[in-house]
This record gives sequence, C-alpha cells and structure tokens, in this order.
Amino acid sequence: MFDLIVKGGTLPDGTVADIGITGTRIKAIELLGSAEAAQIIDASGDLVSPPFVDPHFHMDATLSYGTPRINASGTLLEGIGLWNELKQVMTQDDVVTRALQYCDWAASMGLLAIRSHVDTCDDSLKGVQALLEVREQVKNYIDLQLVAFPQDGFYRDPGARANTIRALDMGVDVVGGIPHFERTMVDGAASVKELCEIAADRGLPVDMHCDETDDPLSRHIETLAYETKRLGLQGRVAGSHLTSMHSMDNYYVSKLLPLIAEAEISVIPNPLINIVLQGRHDTFPKRRGLTRVKEMLAMGINVGWGQDCVLDPWYSLGTADMLDVAFMGLHVAQMTSPDEMRKCFDMITVDNAKTMGLTDYGLKIGAKASLVILDAGNPIEALRLRANRLFVIANGRVISQSERSDAVLQIKGRPGNIRRRH
Ligand SMILES: [Zn+2]
Repeated sequence: MFDLIVKGGTLPDGTVADIGITGTRIKAIELLGSAEAAQIIDASGDLVSPPFVDPHFHMDATLSYGTPRINASGTLLEGIGLWNELKQVMTQDDVVTRALQYCDWAASMGLLAIRSHVDTCDDSLKGVQALLEVREQVKNYIDLQLVAFPQDGFYRDPGARANTIRALDMGVDVVGGIPHFERTMVDGAASVKELCEIAADRGLPVDMHCDETDDPLSRHIETLAYETKRLGLQGRVAGSHLTSMHSMDNYYVSKLLPLIAEAEISVIPNPLINIVLQGRHDTFPKRRGLTRVKEMLAMGINVGWGQDCVLDPWYSLGTADMLDVAFMGLHVAQMTSPDEMRKCFDMITVDNAKTMGLTDYGLKIGAKASLVILDAGNPIEALRLRANRLFVIANGRVISQSERSDAVLQIKGRPGNIRRRH
C-alpha cells in the first residue's frame, strides 16, 4: 500500500515504470501491477522526470521589471546601475512578496530547486533577510540555496566585504563573488582568492559570477580553478557565466579547460541572459557571448544551464521555465544531435542537481518524492514543445496541476483535436 503511485510513465532514459511513493520518499520504481495506493495518477505515454533545477538566479531582483525604470541600453552595466536605483526604493516586504510570487511560478513549472544569489552590499541586508525568510517559507516544496553576492564588488564597494561576511553569519549557504567588476584584474584575482579562503574556513560551497564580459583577457576562472585546487575545494565550486571564454585565444583555452576539469568546477552558462547582454559593444560580426559548452562537456566538466533573471533590471522576459532556458542554450551552443538534445535536458535536471550538491534528488529509491509529469513523450519532445507540466509532485504531495496544451481545430476535413506531439 502506497500513498501515491504514478503509473506507466516514461522516465527520461526511456524506461516505462510505475513510481510508488510513501510519505515524502520514493519507495519503488518498477511495474507495480495491481498494487494499491491512496491516490493513483495515470502517466501512460507521458514523460516523468525529476524536478527542474535552476543553479543560477537572482530572487531579490525578480519581478521588479520597470521599477523604477527599464534598462534602456540593455547592457549588464546599466542593469547594475538600475539595480542600485531599485535597492534605494525597495523594502524587505517587497522582496518577500516578489520572491514568493516567483516561487509560485517555479512550483507550477516543476522547478523545485533554485540557487539564488542575493546582494550583500547594502548595510541593511534587507534582501538577505527577505530571502532567508522566503527560504524558510518554501522549504516544503522548493530547495532554495542562497549565495552571498557582493554585486558592487567585494573590494570595489567599501561595505561589501564586511556585509558579505555578515550575510554568511546570518545563514547564507554559498560564497559568491564578481571578480570582473572589481576595478583591476589584480583586485579581481585577489577577491577570488580571499572569497575561496572564506569558503574553505567555513566549509561552504563557492559559486562566482566569473568573467561575465566579452573581454578575452578576463581570466578569473583560471584563478578560481587554481584556488579551488590549492584549498582542496574540488567538487564544491561553481563558475557562473564564463562568457569571456567565447572570445579567448584558442591556445589559452586548451590550457585552461584541463585546469577547470582537474579542479572539478561546475560551470553554469545562462543562455537567455548571455545572448541578450553580451556582444553589445560589437558591430559585426557580433559575438554571441556564450561560453564553450560543448568543449567543456567533452572534457568531462559538469555544465548545466541556469536562468539568471526573470523580469528584472537585466532581462525583460521569463516564466520560470527551465525548458525555455535549455531551448535557448541548445540553439546558441548548436547542440542539435539527439544525444546533445537529451544532454540539454539532463543539464536542467540531474547535472544542475550535482552543481547544487542535492544528494536526495532524482528518480531513485529513497530519494525525495519530487517529480514532474510532462505533456511530452520524451526529453527531446519536452524541449521542442516546452511541454506543460501536467502534475508537479513535491515531497510526495501534488502541488500543481495543469491541462494539456491541446487545440480544438475547426477546419472541415481535418482532425478536431490537435496535440502537436509526434
Ligand atoms: Zn547572475
């Protein structure tokens, strides 16, 4: 007797199985025949996936689009300036309200693990206090990790160093940084070194915005990988963006990638944002600003797509849909073979879970009973359709349901119901 059985679904690897859930855990993944359960969901023909995971987001800024104005140039730097204007007027309650609304969207999209950076530069730390409260409020359905992020520069902003340490003392989970925003390359490298030492002392993971620029000589990922090895932080460090790698010299990259692999750094490109923000200073050809995804995957480096922004000073669209993120990444990185497309689905589920260090995640016995049933037959179809989430289950409980995205066609001699599945 189970509490819930998800019956006959197709798992991402193509296996057809029933999933038996008791309490908050997966108890069986096999064909369960006539086993009984308090609730049975028929998933025949539909994809059953572990939840989506977003390893890079800014929940303190989300859903603020237009406050106090929009980003006219569309650049990263105007976005940072605009965020500073927003910080002057926003309150802790505003941040909680916007973040909880975003978490509702995420839950409805089956996005049940999020790593959010939170600005640690202002003395009030109102964003930190707000997101600590939100982390507590959503903990039964979303794993929310917070990264202490000195947005205005760990050294460049006079209060950032002390406030970042205060934020870690308050319970923020991960050490962040933004070395390319320091005033010099030397300061940037020094900030990486000190922040990694802070993480090593406290036993915390590291996730840095790194080289989010078109400058081929922005090479902070090299320092991050070096410090990771020096301090023995292998497997606990992520580098976000790495867009400068798009423009780097090829010989240099051939030396850099083995260092990143040896340091076991996870890499988080954010394709929606990178394609929008990078290349803004170019005429033609215009660089696309995405890091070297396929080349890093070929080296065995863990790479997963992140979302970064939804309706904020840097990005004017977004719906908490990680399938949108992977769809853009697939196009920009030209990952169009069947294996590459399947990999893009893994990159927003299991690979991102690895980046976030989620140990009880996945479709396996004993793991958290969190999963998504999609209106698609397989991962590639889910990407093609950006398929509806028919059911979202978090810790053994259905938390969201939606209809199939069928259309009723009224054309003589043609079928009446259109599903667009193939
Ligand atoms: Zn970011």
